[in-house]
Amino acid sequence: MEREFWNPEMELLPREEIEALQLRRLREVLQRCDRSPFYRELFREASFSPEKLNSLADLRALPFTDKETLRGGDPARFLTVPLEDIVRVHSSSGTTGQATVVFHTARDIDAWAELVARCMYMTGVRSTDVFQNMMGYGLFTGGLGFHYGAERIGALVIPAGSGNSRRQIQLMRDFHTTVIHVIPSYALYLLEVFREMGLDPASDTDLRIAFIGAEPHTESLRRRLEESYGVKAYNSYGLTEMNGPGVAFECPFQEGMHVWEDSFLLEVIDPERLEPVPPGEEGELVLTTLNREGMPLLRYRTRDLAFAYPEPCRCGRAHRRISRIKGRTDDMFIVKGVNIFPMQVERVLLGILGVGSNYQIVLDTVESRDEMRVMVEVAGDLWHGEVRELNRLRKRIVEELRQEILVTPLVELVEPGTLPAGEGKAVRVMDRREYARGD
Ligand code: AMP
Ligand code: ZN
Repeated sequence: MEREFWNPEMELLPREEIEALQLRRLREVLQRCDRSPFYRELFREASFSPEKLNSLADLRALPFTDKETLRGGDPARFLTVPLEDIVRVHSSSGTTGQATVVFHTARDIDAWAELVARCMYMTGVRSTDVFQNMMGYGLFTGGLGFHYGAERIGALVIPAGSGNSRRQIQLMRDFHTTVIHVIPSYALYLLEVFREMGLDPASDTDLRIAFIGAEPHTESLRRRLEESYGVKAYNSYGLTEMNGPGVAFECPFQEGMHVWEDSFLLEVIDPERLEPVPPGEEGELVLTTLNREGMPLLRYRTRDLAFAYPEPCRCGRAHRRISRIKGRTDDMFIVKGVNIFPMQVERVLLGILGVGSNYQIVLDTVESRDEMRVMVEVAGDLWHGEVRELNRLRKRIVEELRQEILVTPLVELVEPGTLPAGEGKAVRVMDRREYARGD
């Protein structure tokens, strides 16, 4: 008889047992952390002794970590194993300098694949399925992360990678793909390509399940994708610092995403007061790895805003659910699945002669695709100069931005003094995309 759960032992743990397991695992993690130069120092500064941990709440004696913590130096200082035990490195989307690096041992990769398999199986993926992974392979975690999970289930995996739309559609038809993993904004765009090819994704493919993640999206976009593709679309949340995908995932009820609490300790905090918010209230997600060997992360501030559902799910899993991600507490934005910080744009612009004193980033959905437009004031004398010079400047800005942020923006040069300078903190990013307008 086919099993109903991928890992019933973990998935069906009652609440008290989840918390007991968390405490046991947290103790182990903290003992391991004592071997890492970074954590040894952190513990010393906070006068924190891992042996004295009596409850999960005792962890709050430690300060938070965040992207800054990770960026500030050699990532190897977080390791609790010798470097020779590390078998893989991943980094967050975005370029070096902004990206964060995470090291994994073979056991870590195995545990990660197990979590992703659990997610996929929960929504009905089986060994008879054909899984087309349309996420970028490489340092980005969405490719290999899902790949290993799907193989673990025994599905036939097509490592399609991202882009190349017509070929994606061709692959779906040739191999009778039943399950896809795709960035929601790209899934929306792909509908246009189907139309151009005279095909209807709902009737001309065998698709039945889609996993959508890596960027914020609305419930209405999900429904639109479900209708157009004739699939059930499940929200998938993860971040490189916590492996990548497999952190939180929707079950068939599609009411929030279960955080696998045997592997991650979840805190939801008020981003100003840095205190826990009451159950059900929105706050910033803070996560601790409970089952990572190579590079544990403690109290990592994700900057992602969501709430945890106070009541248990109808599916019988006691692992708490988080809502859709509502926004971020920093100024990072995501275009075509790539993380971008306004500072990156600013740094590039400051380095180019002829650029004036103000700029603005406008994000929009144009013909179902993310569009990033950078409006740049040019220096006064240049504005009245030759058109050819302006063109040259524009091209240079596009090229240098593309290298820095890995996305090709539209660049519009504007007259000095025409962009809103604003009092105090200028509004650098205007997000007019669908999800930003709210549901
Ligand atoms: P990366 O580490 O490059 O994979 O980026 C991780 C970030 O992507 C998260 O911190 C979120 O801001 C965003 N993200 C990932 N999955 C989702 C999702 N399902 N919904 C909204 N945002 C997401
Ligand atoms: Zn559920």
